[in-house]
Amino acid sequence: MNYRHAYHAGNFSDVFKHAVMALIVESLKNKDKPFCYIDTHAGIGQYDLMAIQAQKTGEYKAGIEALMADSTASAHPLLAPYLDVVKGMNSPETLRYYPGSPLLARKLMRHNDRMVACELHPEDAELLKSHFKGDRQVAIQHADGYRALKAALPPPERRGLVHIDPPYEDREEFVHLTRWLALTHQRWATGTYLIWYPIKDRRPLRRFYDELIGSGIRRILVAELNINPDNTPDALNGSGLLMINPPFELDKKIRTLQPLLGGVFNATGQHRCDWLVGE
Ligand code: SAM
Repeated sequence: MNYRHAYHAGNFSDVFKHAVMALIVESLKNKDKPFCYIDTHAGIGQYDLMAIQAQKTGEYKAGIEALMADSTASAHPLLAPYLDVVKGMNSPETLRYYPGSPLLARKLMRHNDRMVACELHPEDAELLKSHFKGDRQVAIQHADGYRALKAALPPPERRGLVHIDPPYEDREEFVHLTRWLALTHQRWATGTYLIWYPIKDRRPLRRFYDELIGSGIRRILVAELNINPDNTPDALNGSGLLMINPPFELDKKIRTLQPLLGGVFNATGQHRCDWLVGE
């Protein structure tokens, strides 16, 4: 386990993923009934962009920093749920702290919503726990996210979001993901799922899509934000989101966000947001 998200926090990919995730959580709040947010690969929860890791790559500069510096783009109402959380963690003058997915979800949750977050790296799991000490709405597990997810489904609330955001260090990650998705979807077919994936080499991705199309799972939406054209197999050319049972009109909202964020990131690749499998 070499991957540490502290090097990448706040990059273009995090911005796209977290902006969409915040929209999904906001949609869950349209009904009074509580929801459960389950984060299988949670990271450490909060990132210091001035720390050595973030400074080493500087990835956040072309991501959250560029977005915050663009007064027109950052004022778009679709970004408000996400950016209000980022702004709330920082002083108006300085961007220093960036929320990981569990902290973003927690800031958006209501008093009766619940969160389960898993992190396998022992040090990262401890750091994650430290952010939620004494929080009765949050359960942090130092565990394999896939196994913990299977055990947690269906949540008693019967409403919620499962966020799966693996590091893809394992070359077979797409294969594991497909297998676990089939299993977990059997346990909870009506939940909303948000899966992040890197866009590098297209071949494993095409297999992933084909397997999902053949899996019998319905209502699968795919959204991609590509910052580079699709011809550099070893680079992170884009950020992909695969959603199962996305909320009503999320596709329209994503199609509005993609050119907006693409402009901020000087993206030269293509966007995509369409249904891999419909109703
Ligand atoms: N979701 C986080 C966010 O948006 O802020 C970022 C997560 S990062 C991409 C992936 C995390 O998964 C890393 O912190 C890594 O240690 C952890 N991880 C790797 N394998 C795991 C597993 N099998 N179960 C749970 N966590 C795992």
